[in-house]
Order: sequence, then C-alpha cells, then structure tokens
Amino acid sequence: MIFEISILAAAALTIVWLCLDRIHKQKRFHQEIQQVNELHHEALEADRKRHELLLDGLSDALFLVDQSGVVCYANIAARQMFAERNVVGQSPQAVFPDARFIEAIHQCEKTHQPMVQRLVLPQQLSPLGAKENRGVNAWLLDVAPLPPEAYPEAKLRVLLRDLTAEFQSEQVRKDFVANASHELRTPLAIIQGYLENLLEVGGLRDHQQAARFLSIMSKHTDRVSRIVEDMLVISRLESGEAAALSIEPFEFHSCVQDVLERLEHLIVSQQATVDFSKVQRGLMISGDRFYWTQVLFNLIENALKQNPRPGLKVVVTGMQQDKGIYLSVADDGIGIPSSHLPFVFKRFYRVDQNHTNSAIKGTGLGLSIVKRAVEAHGGNISVSSIPGRETKFSIELPTPQESMVATAGIAS
Ligand code: ADP
Repeated sequence: MIFEISILAAAALTIVWLCLDRIHKQKRFHQEIQQVNELHHEALEADRKRHELLLDGLSDALFLVDQSGVVCYANIAARQMFAERNVVGQSPQAVFPDARFIEAIHQCEKTHQPMVQRLVLPQQLSPLGAKENRGVNAWLLDVAPLPPEAYPEAKLRVLLRDLTAEFQSEQVRKDFVANASHELRTPLAIIQGYLENLLEVGGLRDHQQAARFLSIMSKHTDRVSRIVEDMLVISRLESGEAAALSIEPFEFHSCVQDVLERLEHLIVSQQATVDFSKVQRGLMISGDRFYWTQVLFNLIENALKQNPRPGLKVVVTGMQQDKGIYLSVADDGIGIPSSHLPFVFKRFYRVDQNHTNSAIKGTGLGLSIVKRAVEAHGGNISVSSIPGRETKFSIELPTPQESMVATAGIAS
C-alpha cells in the first residue's frame, strides 16, 4: 500500500514538474519573442534616425506628405524655413502660401508623375513668411511620388530649393545688358546722324562744318569706348573676382601721385587743390595696383567733374588703423542729396539723370567699379555727404593688410 502511494506521489510530482517546466519554457519563449521584437524595433528606429540624419544633411527643404494628405515629416532646412510655424501635422494648404504649390502637389497625386517648376513670388508670398526681406524671391519646386517601401507612411515628397540669389543676379545681368545697350545707343545714334550728314552730296564741301561734325563724332566715340572699357573692367571683376586680381604689395602714396599726374590737366584748369598730406608715407597695400589706381582715379575725377567751379578742395587720406587700413577721398563741392546716397554705387546710376552737358556726363559706372574693386580686395566702401560742406567716400580694408605696413619711412 505504501509502495503504491509512493508511486502515485512520484507520478503526481512528475506531472507537476512537467507542467512547471512547460510553463517555464513558454515564459522563456515569450521573453525571447519580446526581446527579438524590441531588437527589431530598435533596429527600425536606428534606421529611421539614420535616414533622417541623411535628409537633415540636405540644404534644400524637404517635406513628406502622408496618405491622408498631411505633412508627416520635415527636414531641418524645412523646419528652419518655417521656424515660426509648426509644419508637421498640417495640410499643404496651411503650409505653402501660393496656390501653385498646391496645384503641383495635386497634379503629382493625380498623375503619379514628378512635377518640377520654378516659382517667382512676390515678397508677401515667400515660403519664408515674415523672415523674407529680399523682395521678389525664386524657388525650385520639385514634387515626386514615393514608392511605398521608401517611407511607409508617406506618399510623396516636396523639395524646395531657394533660387533667389541666382534669380537676382540673372536680373542684374539682364538690367546691365539693357542699360548698356541704352547707353551705347545714344552716342552711336549721334555719330550715325553726323556721318550721314557728311556723306550727303556736298557734305564735305563746307570744311569748317565738316571739322565741327568730326569733332562731335570724336567726342561721342570717346564716350562709347569709355563705356565699353568700364563694362569690361566690371565684367573682369565679376568673373570670379579674386582670380581677376594680381595681388602684390605697393606703396599707396606713389599710387596717389600717379593718379594726380593723370588728372593734373583737369586740376589746373579747374583751379582745384588736392591735398594728400594725410596719406601716410610708407603705407603699403597688398592688392592689384591697376584696380586701386582706378579706384582713386574715379573718386578724385568724380569730385572734380561734379564741381567745375574754381577753388574746389579735395582731401585724400590713407592710414593704418587698429582694425586695418583706412582710405578716403573727400571734397567740399555740391555733394549728393541724401535721397540719392543709397543708389550711387549702382550701375549706370547718375544723380543728375537729365544732365545735358555731355562734357561732364559720365558713364554712371565709375562708382560701381570702385565698389566692386574694393570688395574684391575684401574691403568695403561707404559714402556720406553734406552738400556744400563735405562729400566723403571712406574705404576700410581688413586686418591682414596690417602686416603690409612698411616700418621705414613713415612720415606725417
Ligand atoms: P559717373 O560716371 O556718372 O560719374 P559714377 O558711378 O562715378 O558715375 O557716379 C555716380 C553719380 O554719383 C554721379 O553721376 C554723380 O552724380 C554722383 N557723384 C559721385 N561722386 C560725387 C561727388 N564727389 N560729388 C557729387 N556727386 C558725386
């Protein structure tokens, strides 16, 4: 009897043990599955982070639109673009300010084909919102459908590239060509008119008149060649400005002397004085002497040209300062009205637009050459004017110039 009980107990214990073992194994199995799931989830998360890092590396703004037509992802560039608004979770209508964005997205949804277009927008419709301060702005809009395996939640991507800088320089180039053609057309028409007169039957018989026509033609030919020369200088400076320069140290004082020699005739005939005692002796500039001669020539010639009255005083300054080199050309002439000051460095800009005296009419390119040449040397130029008292063009050149100051021969 005891033996039978023992066997039954042993059997019961074995059953209990087997049950416990089974439960234990099932628990372990569940734990293992959970671990695998977690590992899989972590791998997916890591994968997603890697992709997002990659997309954040793009300088273009990128948005993903999900199946319900809502923005479900925006990379860093896109988030920065819309800094003041939260774009994720919004509909494209709420995000993009211009109807053409939405049309492109709808077209892409309908046709499943990529849509690429260039948008030129007024300032108030810029995707930058209130941050936009560049006026008319241009964008490349590139919308394309996404295959489901690329990003499961998203059905299409919207890429936005800022083309405003390219657009504006294209506009400047177009304006330049239009203005240049306009400027060249006037003297060429005058030359053509006088030529036709001379070529008429008997046109050369009146020698005195013919000589007068020829002298007018010669003056206008000079003007055409000056405009062309100035345009060439500008285009050379703009074709990768630094590469256009031949940088070597030169003494600024001797450069001023060269320019004054070239302008001596004008200075004497106008009874003007040019004081350059404030140009530090031994001041060296590391730069392209050709362009610096042109900078000084244009600034001093402008002062003389705009003030043909006798007794004009022009002061040229050049000195080493703590932050770099400071240069200036000032005169006590008629000056520039404050409303014109912001525009004088623009190409073809003249304060007196209706100047009829062609003897003093310039090309309107002088100051834009000056500005570009100064900037090509890493400097900047500004202008201030109190008409009748002082009109001053000031140039600052950066610190690396410091090393160029000759220690010898520094005079007052
Ligand atoms: P321009 O070839 O007509 O001289 P610039 O670009 O050199 O063209 O100068 C632009 C305009 O700025 C000039 O037409 C002139 O009206 C004005 N300007 C430049 N320098 C002076 C100055 N020192 N005094 C008065 N007006 C000046």
